[in-house]
Amino acid sequence: MPARGTHKKVQTKRITSLEVLIYDDDARFRQLLSDMMGQSREITFSIQEAEDTEQMELSLKNHTPDVIVLDLELRGKSGLEWLRDIKKHEIAPVVIITGSGDERQAVEAMKSGAYDYIPKAYLTFDQLTKSLINAHEKWNLLKERQVLLDKLAHMAMYDGLTDVLSRRALLEQMEFETQRTKRYNRNLAILMIDIDRFKKVNDTYGHIVGDVVLKRIAQTLKEQTRRSDFVGRYGGEEFLVILPETSLGKAVFLAEKLREQVANLAIKANGTILKGTSISIGAAAFDNDASVDEFINRSDKWLYKAKEAGRNQVQPKVGTKN
Ligand code: GH3
Ligand code: MG
Ligand code: MG
Ligand code: MG
Repeated sequence: MPARGTHKKVQTKRITSLEVLIYDDDARFRQLLSDMMGQSREITFSIQEAEDTEQMELSLKNHTPDVIVLDLELRGKSGLEWLRDIKKHEIAPVVIITGSGDERQAVEAMKSGAYDYIPKAYLTFDQLTKSLINAHEKWNLLKERQVLLDKLAHMAMYDGLTDVLSRRALLEQMEFETQRTKRYNRNLAILMIDIDRFKKVNDTYGHIVGDVVLKRIAQTLKEQTRRSDFVGRYGGEEFLVILPETSLGKAVFLAEKLREQVANLAIKANGTILKGTSISIGAAAFDNDASVDEFINRSDKWLYKAKEAGRNQVQPKVGTKN
């Protein structure tokens, strides 16, 4: 016997209404389908009908149905072509109605992404409603699954607090950029950024305020860099910015802008306004370093120099060799 609690039922929302679009060039058959759906006591069907390509196009443009019932034998653009298009644009699940009892076509339709098929000759009320409900429920489950997968992918790639790249994503990007830089002999620079006296912010105002400061600085770094640059959280209060196609001189110039922007922030948090939070930045240009670690270490050394020299500054200074 299963342990207590393992038999939890999945609660699915009961469907009470469905919007169905029927595309069949045979008016009598559209009527038959409509009449069948009209018999349902549990579900209110709102039905739209299309009898040719133009009407179908117009229907889809104006409205997204829950389920599409599609005939395979159509004049003009074939049912299979329609099916593939609907699938490609992820419009709605499709239930196929096959006329001539051609099983091969039905198989082809299922392979192309149809949710179900019903031969016209065997169409019954039960089969039709069951098929429409199943298609709708399966579609919803797949959508929910996709949302979860997207969330997971985002969580793996972005830092939960600041929503800039995670350390892992940063290191992967570093691997990629250094390889590319080596192969094509391009420029590549990085900035290692550390918040000054951040411990004091936490000690004075508390962790929650500290978190707000981290978020605001991350956001500033993101806003002040290009879309083609990569901003990530390297550690607790350290950020790394990857600057593809950028020389050391340009990187130092950008770093100076970032430093100034952060120094000018007035950060509202928990009823206080924090001014004068500063960052120190170490810059480095890729110089055929053997590894990503070595490259990062060089930026770290310059960051250390910036701290030693009094913080709220960029090292190396413009014109100094790296
Ligand atoms: P320095 O100028 O030398 O960098 O001084 P600092 O105080 O910034 O350096 P230190 O390394 O001593 O302190 C870093 C602080 O960052 C300590 C830690 O509590 C804080 N910190 C790290 N991660 C987080 C976080 O996610 N949220 C908050 N609120 N604080 C964090
Ligand atoms: Mg037909
Ligand atoms: Mg630090
Ligand atoms: Mg610090």
